[in-house]
Amino acid sequence: MNRIRCLVFNRALEVLDYRAPEGMAVEPGAIVVAPLGPRQITGIVWEPERLPAQEVPAEKLRPILEIIPVPPLSAPLRRLIEWTADYYCASPSSVARMVISSGGALNGPATMTEYRLSGGMPERMTPQREQAIEALQGEQATIRELASIAGVSEGVLRGLVSQGVIEPVTVAIDRPFDPADPDYDVPELSAEQREVADVLVNAVRAQEFAPFLLDGVTGSGKTETYFEPMAEAIRMGRQVLVMLPEIALTENFLKRFEARFGVAPVLWHSSLKSTERRRAWRAISEDSAQVVVGARSALFLPYPKLGLIVVDEAHEVSFKQDDGVRYNARDVAVMRGHFEGFPVVLASATPALESLHMADTGTYTRLELPSRFGGAELPHIDTIDLTEEPPERGRWLSPRLVAALEDRLAKHEQSLLFLNRRGYAPLTLCRNCGFRFQCANCSAWLVEHRLSARLACHHCGHEEVPPATCPECGELDCLVACGPGVERIADEVAELFPEARIAVATSDTLNSPERAAEFIAAAENAAIDIIIGTQLVTKGFHFPELTLVGVIDADLGLEGGDLRAAERTYQQVAQVAGRAGRGAKPGEVLIQTRHPQAPVIAALSDGNRDAFYEAETEARRHAGAPPFGRWAAIIISSEDDAEARSAANRLGDTRPQIDGLMVLGPAPAPLALLRGRYRYRFLVNARRTANLQQVLRDWLAQHDFPPGIRVGVDIDPYSFV
Ligand code: ADP
Ligand code: ZN
Repeated sequence: MNRIRCLVFNRALEVLDYRAPEGMAVEPGAIVVAPLGPRQITGIVWEPERLPAQEVPAEKLRPILEIIPVPPLSAPLRRLIEWTADYYCASPSSVARMVISSGGALNGPATMTEYRLSGGMPERMTPQREQAIEALQGEQATIRELASIAGVSEGVLRGLVSQGVIEPVTVAIDRPFDPADPDYDVPELSAEQREVADVLVNAVRAQEFAPFLLDGVTGSGKTETYFEPMAEAIRMGRQVLVMLPEIALTENFLKRFEARFGVAPVLWHSSLKSTERRRAWRAISEDSAQVVVGARSALFLPYPKLGLIVVDEAHEVSFKQDDGVRYNARDVAVMRGHFEGFPVVLASATPALESLHMADTGTYTRLELPSRFGGAELPHIDTIDLTEEPPERGRWLSPRLVAALEDRLAKHEQSLLFLNRRGYAPLTLCRNCGFRFQCANCSAWLVEHRLSARLACHHCGHEEVPPATCPECGELDCLVACGPGVERIADEVAELFPEARIAVATSDTLNSPERAAEFIAAAENAAIDIIIGTQLVTKGFHFPELTLVGVIDADLGLEGGDLRAAERTYQQVAQVAGRAGRGAKPGEVLIQTRHPQAPVIAALSDGNRDAFYEAETEARRHAGAPPFGRWAAIIISSEDDAEARSAANRLGDTRPQIDGLMVLGPAPAPLALLRGRYRYRFLVNARRTANLQQVLRDWLAQHDFPPGIRVGVDIDPYSFV
């Protein structure tokens, strides 16, 4: 009798035992369909000794129904799943779900039906039909996806299908991807780049675990340099994964990739259509996708022959997932290299303190690119003390910054103004009664967006149309905007320089690959004089004509005061400063601040990165913060405030009393209400040597919370709200 243990995709059950039917050989890693009562469930076959479960008597075991014909998950990938679940206090099935992240890839036919406009017109035109026909020009997708593109219901589209205005098309889903050519257009590297590239190429040849920190100043050509080990991996028939923090960045990357390797890489991110997902997943799992470029979710895909991972802009917080499995893709990437035996490269001009510490202690090999490519100089950085050189009343740009913009306009050079706030104003209030617009689902102010004429919550996505009268006192035309967002800065710039060509670059305006590509082309061709952007424009971009960067409010990021506020401010400002002077002309950076003496601002204006990191390292050591100690957060939430509070208090009553471990809380979270759930937080600080995860698991296991309660554990948290 052949007992088969399965990790099943069901949170409550998690592990179930089955048996193999007569004549079926079932290997660990196989993806199978099994019965569950009258229904069916998908699972992954596992080594029984690695996945404890209650033993079911042999005679009660039901047979597996079928093995899905996709390659089994490899043993190292199964170890990675176990490690991730263990380290981040998540269930193995929730991690495995990120591996099997395309339901369609497991079943479904090899062809599918998509729909597109046929060119015909409906017998009767309605506003919705008109809207759909206009929006769907050139689109081809499933009905559901078309409905979302057009902003109409699926019913409207089905009506158009029955009239022949929209027609079905049969498409093959799993067409192979074009192979990349490692020698398509090999650049000539500088001596400095060559040295680094050679080390990495050798590491790829060795196919052993080797973590690298590629620490190179902005504009040093980190991309060109890590393309070389990628090319070597392709020559060796190994797969390569490049992780980027933001989809908006990929456009820029794709162009450079195509120029180097002759084809586009395989893309993986959350806004892929289901068919694109399926095609990519299958190609990846069958080893026909050579190079995958993706967001953090690309990390868990079942590559059978991965030979290199590059994490670009590795310091970026978007590699940390803040819901579901709260993992940091940067760290898990290194673990994947460890389990599967290949090099991992973390590239950044402003590495995370944790990564620098790993390099300092010799755990990671540090590779440096200390100068810009092609002789470009790093920009000159200066601060503007807003207490001494304030802007005019109701304005946000100080006279010196305005003069610098004027100078660049006269010289036909480009400027970039950075403010990490989307929208027009972060707060709207009634001048008459003081009423403030707040989100109904979150403890957050609604942010005014003038371009889309909405008040929006940046936490839950709730939107409303600004009313003509105050909802509290009924006064007409009494709403005032408080504080600036990028749209307001854009207004100020337009008033000052009516002739200037201005572009607002945020996730609102660059919300699709097409729009991002348009923006990049316009900026590269000097068709924009002044770019006003959020953190989206702080990294990756290379605009040769850009010579001035203005930071509107460097103090903004320090206000939260959380563990990483100073580091994040340093990284953001240093990255945005790094956009200036990348071409032939030298760059200048002006940082507006009320605290020019603050250590992080002073380090930025002196260009003294080491001083900042040394001071920050000491502060962390003193606080027992990472990398010297460990932090974990526990977030208790419920739709009922009293229920959440009482659960948090009960948990607090049994807090572990352990030497070297301190539990703070429970306290209402700074975002006390989020998406309609009331939230309470604990912060746990432990010594490096404490077995933090085991302590947390034992602590939480003592409690049986009511079904309305959600308990989130966040190891190495980045978010403190
Ligand atoms: P980083 O990512 O380190 O900020 P990039 O990789 O964006 O720097 O490189 C800066 C610019 O220099 C890019 O336009 C890039 O194409 C160019 N560049 C870098 N190295 C080379 C090289 N060896 N040959 C030609 N162009 C290069
Ligand atoms: Zn909200």
